[in-house]
Amino acid sequence: MKINLSGPDITQAEIDAVLGVLNTTTLSLGPKLVEFETAFADYVGRRFAVAVNSGTSGLHLSMLALGIGPGDEVITTPFSFIATSNCILMVDAKPVFVDIDPVSLNIDPDKISEKINDKTKAVIPVEVFGNPSGIDKVYELTRQHQIHCVEDSCEALGSVVNGKKVGTLGDISTFAFYPNKQITTGEGGIILTDDEEVAHLCGSLRNQGRDQNSGWLAHARLGYNYRLSDINCALGIVQLKRIEEFVAKRKQVQLWYQEFLGDDDRLILPQEPENCKMSWFVYVVRLQENFTQENRDQLLNHLREHGIGCSNYFSPLHLQPFMVEKFGFKPGDFPITESVSQRTIALPFYNNLTQQQVETAAAALKLGLNKITNA
Ligand SMILES: *Cc1c(COP(=O)(O)O)cnc(C)c1O
Repeated sequence: MKINLSGPDITQAEIDAVLGVLNTTTLSLGPKLVEFETAFADYVGRRFAVAVNSGTSGLHLSMLALGIGPGDEVITTPFSFIATSNCILMVDAKPVFVDIDPVSLNIDPDKISEKINDKTKAVIPVEVFGNPSGIDKVYELTRQHQIHCVEDSCEALGSVVNGKKVGTLGDISTFAFYPNKQITTGEGGIILTDDEEVAHLCGSLRNQGRDQNSGWLAHARLGYNYRLSDINCALGIVQLKRIEEFVAKRKQVQLWYQEFLGDDDRLILPQEPENCKMSWFVYVVRLQENFTQENRDQLLNHLREHGIGCSNYFSPLHLQPFMVEKFGFKPGDFPITESVSQRTIALPFYNNLTQQQVETAAAALKLGLNKITNA
C-alpha cells in the first residue's frame, strides 16, 4: 500500500521507555503496571483502573465481575466490533441487540427501554468510531432501570459528551490499546470503575484468581491470565502523556478529509456532533442510499488498486455465522445497521497522515465514484 489504513505513532520516548523496562528484572506485575493504571484512572477521572492484555479481556472480566451469567440478557448494538457481543457469549448470557441511530451510528437510546425485562442485567453501549453522541442518555437510562452499564469505550479515548468524559459513563468502562487505537501498548486494554469490589475482582480474575497478597499458588476463584506486561505498560505511559497531541493530529486529518470530500454529494461524511468533543478513531465515509453493497466493494477494490488502504466497517454482529446459528438472527432484523454496513468505507486514518496523502486518498475515492456513476 502507498498509504496505509492505520498506523501507530511511536517516538524515541516510547522506545526508551520500553528499553528501560528491559533493563530491569521486573517485566510483569511491576511498577510500570501501577504507574500506567494510576495515570489512566487520573486522566479519565475514575477511582480504579485494572490493566489487562486486551480490550476483549476487559469486557469479559467486566461481565464476570458484575455476576452476569446463564439466563441473563445483555443489551448492546449490532454495529460494533465482535468483542462487544462476544463478551456476553463468553459468560453464557444472551445478547439482545437494539438497532442504531442513523446519524451517530451508536445504539439508539430511544429503542432500549422496550427490550428491558426481568432478565436484563446490563447494557453495553459503544462510542462507535469515537463518536460519544447519546451515550450519556444510555447511561441515564440504566440508572432509571437499575441495571448495569458497561461502557465499551474502546474507540473513544479522549472524547467528551455534554461535558462528560468517555470512560465515566458506565459502572465499568473499558478501553483497548491495539495499534490502530488512539493510544497503543501493542496489545492491551484497561478496566475502569469507581467500585472497589469490582476493581478487586477484576484484579484477581486477570491474575489466575489470586487475591492480592495471597500466595502465587493460592487461587480464590476461577481466573485467567489476562495480565499486561510492564513492557506494554511502559509504552502506554508515554502514549497516554501524548493523548492531547494525538487527538489534535487526528482532528486535523478529519478536517483535511472534510476539505477534500465535503463537496461530493455522493458521500455522507462523519461529523463531530453538537455538544461533543470527538476523539477520532477511524474515518469512515458512507455512500448515499442509492449505491449498493456491490458498488461499495468495487470502490474498495479500486482504492486498493491505487495503493490506498481501506476497509468496510462494520459487518453486522447479528449476521456473523455463529450468531445466526446460535440465536437464529436473520437479515432484516436490524435494518439501519444492515443498510449502513453495506455502504461504509474506512479511509486511511492515523496521526501522521499528511495533507498530501489525504488529498491523494480523496482523489482516488472520487475517481472510483466517477467510474461507478458513469458506468
Ligand atoms: C478495539 C475494540 C475492542 C477491543 O479489542 P481488542 O482487540 O480485544 O483489544 C472492543 N470493542 C470495540 C468496539 C473495539 O473497537
